[in-house]
Amino acid sequence: MRFLVTGGAGFIGSHYVRTLLSGGYPGYEQTRVTVLDKLSYAGNRDNLPAAHPRLDFVQGDICDLPLLLDLFPGHDAVVHFAAESHVDRSLESAAEFVRTNVGGTQTVLDACLETGIERMVHVSTDEVYGSITDGSWTEEWPLLPNSPYAASKAGSDLIARSYWRTHGLDLSITRCSNNYGPHQHPEKLIPFFVTNLLEGRPLPLYGDGSNVREWLHVDDHCRAVHKVLTDGRPGEIYNVGGGNEQTNLDITELLLTLCGEDHSVIRFVADRKGHDLRYSLDDAKIRNELGYAPAIPFEQGLADTVAWYRDNPDWWKAGI
Ligand code: NAD
Repeated sequence: MRFLVTGGAGFIGSHYVRTLLSGGYPGYEQTRVTVLDKLSYAGNRDNLPAAHPRLDFVQGDICDLPLLLDLFPGHDAVVHFAAESHVDRSLESAAEFVRTNVGGTQTVLDACLETGIERMVHVSTDEVYGSITDGSWTEEWPLLPNSPYAASKAGSDLIARSYWRTHGLDLSITRCSNNYGPHQHPEKLIPFFVTNLLEGRPLPLYGDGSNVREWLHVDDHCRAVHKVLTDGRPGEIYNVGGGNEQTNLDITELLLTLCGEDHSVIRFVADRKGHDLRYSLDDAKIRNELGYAPAIPFEQGLADTVAWYRDNPDWWKAGI
């Protein structure tokens, strides 16, 4: 078996690759992996082993079709994580989000078709659904993305599905909630707040902190992606949630406790433009059809994550 993983030097992709290389997915212990990653500001070569007998690393852009046509032959599957991923950056400038997330995904799909890739997973996000006040989204819910990031992910998600419907490309789509864990870039909420606390800086909290997100440990997300890759049905979409809903204020308070700080470091700041109030996924489909369930309790996963940032200042100081 040989997998090609796009964005494998980023937060989630590198967790997936490290687990695969360490034999963490039973039956796939001998799988060879090619990582294709541009190494944008969010990609870090040090997230992967410097050398490993089953890893090849290629620095390159998913928008580069000739490169992809050269690279893809010989691979059994493509797992597509690469994306511009930070909502706040998409509010400043959307161009790179459309180029990479929409154009890049379409280029990956074209390369899969032309080179006869037999299986693909497109990693999408719950943000494609928009915001929900009550209840939870099923996979049939209409897509009403609100930020340029979410809209570009919705575009890529729909283009991916169209390549299954039109061309018969064997692919499935995952739509996951907010991930947390080690190796997440310090621009994202949890590592941003943890690293601020470790450095004695205040915590700028958007609005009144009442926005609700559903949190899942990155290793649980990666296990779901792998499950969908191996057992998911072609053309199907799988929500990956976990049911752990927290307001941003709840998260902040948990982090304050874990870092031994008090409320005085919180600074309420002007809300993010178009800030989605609440995300909530109905993940019955992946649980019932593929027998998947998250395994890492949130309190434990969060404590371990804080400990990782405390123990690895060299990693995150290089990313600020
Ligand atoms: P990340 O920003 O940490 O990593 C993205 C990786 O993609 C980086 O290594 C970067 O160098 C690479 N990349 C960016 N543009 C590229 C290009 N043009 N060509 C090749 N490589 C490129 O993101 P992440 O948090 O690991 O997210 C991975 C995927 O999961 C994304 O598709 C994201 O939309 C999705 N997702 C993320 C979350 C989350 O909470 N982080 C939740 C649900 C879904």
